[in-house]
Amino acid sequence: MTDWIAAERKYLFQNYGRQPVVLVRGEGTRAWDADGNEYLDFVGGLAVNVLGHAHPVVAEALARQSRELIHTSNLYYTTPMIELAKLLVENSCLDRVFFCNSGTEAIEAAIKLARRWGHDTRNGAYEIISMQDGFHGRSTGALAATGTARYREPFAPLAPGFHHVPWNDLEAIKAATNDKTVAVLLEPIQGEGGVNMPAAGYLQGIRDWCTERRLLLIFDEIQTGIGRTGTLFAYEQEGVEPDIMCLAKGLAGGVPIGAMLAREEIASHLVPGDHGTTFGANPLACATGVATLKYVIEQNLPAHAAKQSERLMTRLRSMEDRLPVVTEVRGRGLLIAVGLARDSSAEVVAACRQRGLLVNNVRPNAVRLMPPLNVTDDEVDRACDILESAIQAVTAPAK
Ligand SMILES: *Cc1c(COP(=O)(O)O)cnc(C)c1O
Repeated sequence: MTDWIAAERKYLFQNYGRQPVVLVRGEGTRAWDADGNEYLDFVGGLAVNVLGHAHPVVAEALARQSRELIHTSNLYYTTPMIELAKLLVENSCLDRVFFCNSGTEAIEAAIKLARRWGHDTRNGAYEIISMQDGFHGRSTGALAATGTARYREPFAPLAPGFHHVPWNDLEAIKAATNDKTVAVLLEPIQGEGGVNMPAAGYLQGIRDWCTERRLLLIFDEIQTGIGRTGTLFAYEQEGVEPDIMCLAKGLAGGVPIGAMLAREEIASHLVPGDHGTTFGANPLACATGVATLKYVIEQNLPAHAAKQSERLMTRLRSMEDRLPVVTEVRGRGLLIAVGLARDSSAEVVAACRQRGLLVNNVRPNAVRLMPPLNVTDDEVDRACDILESAIQAVTAPAK
């Protein structure tokens, strides 16, 4: 592995802080490195691998489509994009789909759609309110919406017209609203911000405010969507419907894809020539998306995720009693963070890795778990054993 790591350091941009593991193969929740070490993968490609690694449904859809048609451009109709859009519309509260290639692009599309709608119907309103600690991507538009100053500030000036307000503070949204405000953009649960849960009534309060003031409610379900939180989309559990929703990560089981969904009255404001992307609605990604999404729905994997979540949460919460350094277990479905009393999550992640478990230090004091939706009882139990022993090892008082 060390030769590969040295070569990466020589040839690639050094913009990632990678774990020192060269992954070469995976199967389900397991993955192997170049030295043959086995890991339980509770990162799941950052909530992307909803069916785990090398799932036959994903692999076969990819192989089949690759022999038929990989790419055509949007000058033509192709069938997988229509099938995937129909599945998404029939299983969500929204009416139309625009496909792109990543989460960031889905957010860009949502920003443009909101501004187009504001231009046409709200006297040119364009300002968007988003949340501190929110994460929406890395392009200069999506980054402008992202509420973490350290991601934004080195790249100023970004797209203007964004206001960041504290999470879980409805009054702050109200105070930031003016005649120029066109939309409120947020994640139903903040993922990259550390798995921050919405307070009871918060999302409903935002929905009511948006309706009252004719603002668009945009949910970034890029991380929470596709069964991750125990329902196909996180908004279902809150009974709060967005006007626009962004998806990506898990939608095609690991193949790059993004999607923006909107209600008809809003979607109709994007007209030919307004927006597009060469690779968007690509048959390879969309056919894999159809296979993945159908399987997730038919096998009722969101419910399985909710059940495995209970098993995981129960065990993790029991650690709070045994390990005083564990201060909080938060999350929903299979998007979970273990909060620590001190900034030791990087050490815990390293100790887990050495014991054969991949997890992510989402905050200096929080470890995030997001295994595939089809994770088994045994895998949950083994991951908890490893995590507990790693936390113990890292936080044991020095002898
Ligand atoms: C990952 C993520 C994005 C960005 O998606 P990319 O595919 O990395 O561009 C945006 N919003 C949320 C909530 C995410 O988790």
